[in-house]
Amino acid sequence: MERYPILEFNLEKLYNNTKIITNLCRDYGINVAGIIKGFGGIPEGAEEMARGGCHQIGSSRIEQLKALKERGIDIPLLMVRIPMMCEIEDVVKYSDICLVSERETLNMLNAEAKKQNKKYGVVLMHDLGDLREGVFTKEELVELAEYVEYSLSSLVLEGIGTNLSCYGSVAPTTENLSRLADAASEIENKLNRKLNIVSGGGTTTLPLMVRGGVPKKINHLRIGEGINNTQDLPLYWDTNIEGLDPDVFVLKAQIVELNEKPTHPIGQLMVNAFGDLPHYEDRGIRKRAILALGNQDLGDSSRLVPKDKDIIVLGASSDHTILDIHDCKTEYKLGDIVEFNILYQAMLMTSLSDYVYKKIIK
Ligand SMILES: *Cc1c(COP(=O)(O)O)cnc(C)c1O
Repeated sequence: MERYPILEFNLEKLYNNTKIITNLCRDYGINVAGIIKGFGGIPEGAEEMARGGCHQIGSSRIEQLKALKERGIDIPLLMVRIPMMCEIEDVVKYSDICLVSERETLNMLNAEAKKQNKKYGVVLMHDLGDLREGVFTKEELVELAEYVEYSLSSLVLEGIGTNLSCYGSVAPTTENLSRLADAASEIENKLNRKLNIVSGGGTTTLPLMVRGGVPKKINHLRIGEGINNTQDLPLYWDTNIEGLDPDVFVLKAQIVELNEKPTHPIGQLMVNAFGDLPHYEDRGIRKRAILALGNQDLGDSSRLVPKDKDIIVLGASSDHTILDIHDCKTEYKLGDIVEFNILYQAMLMTSLSDYVYKKIIK
């Protein structure tokens, strides 16, 4: 008997989505680094993204890139989290380029690259207001670029990049990306050569790109979500890209209880399993199902999108997810399997959970 919950990972759909995104980006003069951290770095997925036209494969976790190097993948690997001091040796060994923001880290990468007898690529990060990683002023960035170019002989300055809408929720705009473009031009003038990479962010830059708002100078994006979690684009950014398949990942879980119960908890309310006091709407007695799947597997049950549009996800504790199935046309029975699309956080968590079985569909 099949074991549940299962996360199904469809490689053909991943490949097709990758092709659509890389072709579209090419029309705007943009190369794509395919980011694999959202699905736990599953190597077969990385290989499809490489086949689908990505210029690099990237992750925030060096362990995931190491696994790819050891499989012999033939594509440059990009480390997208600025490196820890304790992982410099692995970063140089198992990736080809990384994003960096600290002079001291650059010094360490340079020394390690020399030791490994290797030229190692770096992309300097520029903070445009999201207040996560990156050098804050253009002057400092230009100075750092000159330092890498002229003083760190085992490093290659591949370019500059930025990160938006991650910590500060700052949207990518023509205005803020123009500041990145200006910085790139100034560095190119100072160095008297072109930069290979001017990286304008991740999936959240795609909506601006398709509206024609990304400055020409930007030639690189780092995209995970926009390829493997495509329902986020219309949901969060009002952007429809034709042909993208939302079913790269499908999560399946089994019903362990069916009942009819009131919708408002009975008794004095305190906090739930996670220290929150949610709002419970009183909708009378309703039919419900409990799934053997919980926030331990998912992060947060609100990131589930039921395939049966009549299902309402009411909430979850660590191990149980509660569904309202009152309005469903399907007659659910005990042991039935309920299917979901998953948003980014649920993809991240389920792909890493040892309690969620993985099924790769070729
Ligand atoms: C995760 C990450 C990305 C990719 O983000 P998506 O939303 O999956 O496209 C890009 N850049 C950095 C620095 C990241 O950490």
